[in-house]
Amino acid sequence: MGFEEGSQNKNMPSVFIGHGNPMFVLNPNRWTESWSQFGLLIERPKAILSISAHWFKRSTMVTVATGSRLIYDFYGFPQELYEVQYPVEGSTWLTNRVLNLLSGYDIYAAEEWGIDHGTWTVLKHMYPAADIPVVQLSINYLLDIDQHIKIGEVLRDLRKEGVLILGSGNVVHNLRDARFELGFDDPFAYAVDFDLKVKELLDARDFGSLVDILSTKEGRLSAPTIEHYLPLLYVIGASGDQDELQTICEGYDAGSLSMRSLSFG
Ligand code: ZN
Repeated sequence: MGFEEGSQNKNMPSVFIGHGNPMFVLNPNRWTESWSQFGLLIERPKAILSISAHWFKRSTMVTVATGSRLIYDFYGFPQELYEVQYPVEGSTWLTNRVLNLLSGYDIYAAEEWGIDHGTWTVLKHMYPAADIPVVQLSINYLLDIDQHIKIGEVLRDLRKEGVLILGSGNVVHNLRDARFELGFDDPFAYAVDFDLKVKELLDARDFGSLVDILSTKEGRLSAPTIEHYLPLLYVIGASGDQDELQTICEGYDAGSLSMRSLSFG
């Protein structure tokens, strides 16, 4: 990994939020309170670049300001969830910066997407006024897994320019096993084992093992599909060795979802 040297720590943080159930946007709880508090604690970003588990595609794309709109990308939820508004703007400046930085990745600007629920259910708590421009970057599933860390490294410079890097997913995300009646306090053993191992590897800055761990038995159970895990790799790629790693919240929902949220900054 390359690291920044000798810089004062004035960068915006690189943040991973375990977003969990979309209904959290309507029902504040211990997790969303942590996200809100975190938003109040840090310096105000100029813009946010979000890498959401829910824009998982076969190409590398960035949203455009003219296409900025909320995407209600979930099914079978109460009507009030489809009525949530978060009228945030995009940023042509940031879209162009991302296009420029990632020009080696066949990236293009796409009007097909806007701000999906991986982003807005978090930012509604973190920045309720919706007054900070947001741009999303897709996760290209054709890339080798370590390439997601490499892209994060390329994006690291944006932090010096006032951009908060937000990865939104879940360290443990096994919806097939999820039992929502379990609530927040009764996780499955494999979920705890994997989540704590990830914490240990993050503390040790062992980013290579954070890729390899996906192929372990716990990894296959905890991230049977990897789209919710991958945003974490962008966040660690965008971190530097001057950064302090802070846990924003940790814990579990529905037995098989980890709510671990963290910040490098
Ligand atoms: Zn999700």
